[in-house]
Amino acid sequence: MISSAEYRERITALRPNVYIDGELVPRTDPRIEPGVNVIALTYDLAQEPQYDGVFTATSHLSGDKINRFCHIHRSADDLLKKQEMTRLYCRQTGGCIQRCMGTDALNALSVITYEADQLHGTEYYPRFLAYLEHFQKQDLCANCAQTDVKGDRKKRPHQQADPDLYLRVVERRADGIVVRGCKAHNTIAPYADEIIVVPTRFLTEEEADWAVAFAVPADTKGVRLVCRPTAFRPRQKLDAPIAHYGDVESFTIFDDVFVPWERVFLCGEREFGGPLALLFALYHRHSYTGCKPAGTDVLMGMAALAAEYNGIAGADHVQHKLAEMIGVAELVYAAGIAAAVRGQPMRSGTFIPDVVFANVGRRHAGEHIYREFEIVADIAGGLAATLPLEGDYLSDENGALIRKYLMRNPAISAEDQYRCFRLISDAICSSMGGVAQIAGLHGGGSPVMESITLLKAYDVELRKQAAKHLAGIVS
Ligand SMILES: Cc1cc2nc3c(=O)[nH]c(=O)nc-3n(C[C@H](O)[C@H](O)[C@H](O)COP(=O)(O)OP(=O)(O)OC[C@H]3O[C@@H](n4cnc5c(N)ncnc54)[C@H](O)[C@@H]3O)c2cc1C
Repeated sequence: MISSAEYRERITALRPNVYIDGELVPRTDPRIEPGVNVIALTYDLAQEPQYDGVFTATSHLSGDKINRFCHIHRSADDLLKKQEMTRLYCRQTGGCIQRCMGTDALNALSVITYEADQLHGTEYYPRFLAYLEHFQKQDLCANCAQTDVKGDRKKRPHQQADPDLYLRVVERRADGIVVRGCKAHNTIAPYADEIIVVPTRFLTEEEADWAVAFAVPADTKGVRLVCRPTAFRPRQKLDAPIAHYGDVESFTIFDDVFVPWERVFLCGEREFGGPLALLFALYHRHSYTGCKPAGTDVLMGMAALAAEYNGIAGADHVQHKLAEMIGVAELVYAAGIAAAVRGQPMRSGTFIPDVVFANVGRRHAGEHIYREFEIVADIAGGLAATLPLEGDYLSDENGALIRKYLMRNPAISAEDQYRCFRLISDAICSSMGGVAQIAGLHGGGSPVMESITLLKAYDVELRKQAAKHLAGIVS
């Protein structure tokens, strides 16, 4: 396992291909740093003895101790530990830990490359294992670039006015392939070592060129990362852990990118495009059963603290709202536990979560995301939107008066009361709050995608039979 300093050094050395607001910027750009700090934490805390066995795992390839983010799940216990790890990390950062993306893609590839080889006699699985060994040894972190820009949502990839609206193979060569397209909303991409590409959807006979999966270093020639950074508002003097974290999403453009065969994990076997897309989504939705409860933990903590400071902690409506949040956090977490326990090993030996439990968990979280923000806004009051800025709070001119008039509970210092509402303001009334809400809704797939998956996997007929039996219907 490497240190966070080594990770920072490694990404700093990448070829500049990150664009922000019209500029080509180095990966040391201060707008990227909050995202880098999140990933750095995953290197730092993995070294701490108290997290040993949860934030770390044993590689099934080398037998070495590795960062769990580089691990292939081999049992229900591995899935449970990943879920626990995700919740612990996200509580620390107050938001998405981001590194799960690569883990979920690796796990999906470890299943599908094996299955493709069984059917087609290809060599994707040994290729993938060689890549995985390198990934684990170097303790790499990766983005998963799945979501295509998709053009007209009602049209299939081959029906689009521009075939590049879904990433595809445009040339096959003796030494590799050339790909073209653009993947959207790619979290972590500008500070990841690698970008792992998988398809977005099921593919038809005509769509073999879109059935492609591969991994490239994030600075590969032809890859352009057009980025939108989001961070909590910077602090002047009242520093706080939350102020150091953020994330960056990229429009990841593949402008005729060459990928050598040893990094290609699917190319043309179109019947595996859909299963790979769904399997990445399944792992990612299971990851959500760890991060979403942590998001609720943090929002619930803010609501409870604001209630205490406002003197309304015992009010009935506050108690009911906190109970509602506990219900969301723990039902989502419980669904993740059930998905792990009811999971199963695939032929490659990789363990996958149960589809129904993982999807109901993710769906429940996505459906409640705006409600959770609403509860915090309700309990915190309007100050979340109007809190005087730090410069005024600290100023000689108005600071003392602001401290006087912000006071709620005299047993709590004015600074702690200011800090509490500053945290809430930064979390729910900010660009970061907006991104967290939309990520909570769409990340891992919009709610309708979970509904579609559920309806496919679920035995509704069994329920109809139960109703018929109770009604005395025999036909
Ligand atoms: C902050 C954030 C981070 C993300 N990070 C990543 C990442 O790192 N990697 C990655 O690959 N993806 C990432 N995603 C993408 C995420 O998975 C997608 O946003 C999600 O799958 C929805 O896709 P979309 O954004 O293209 O929305 P759309 O698919 O355009 O959805 C918009 C609406 O259209 C509906 N719709 C779409 N198609 C149809 C249809 N054929 N018929 C009827 N209705 C339809 C949807 O149900 C939805 O209601 C991220 C998203 C966010 C917001």
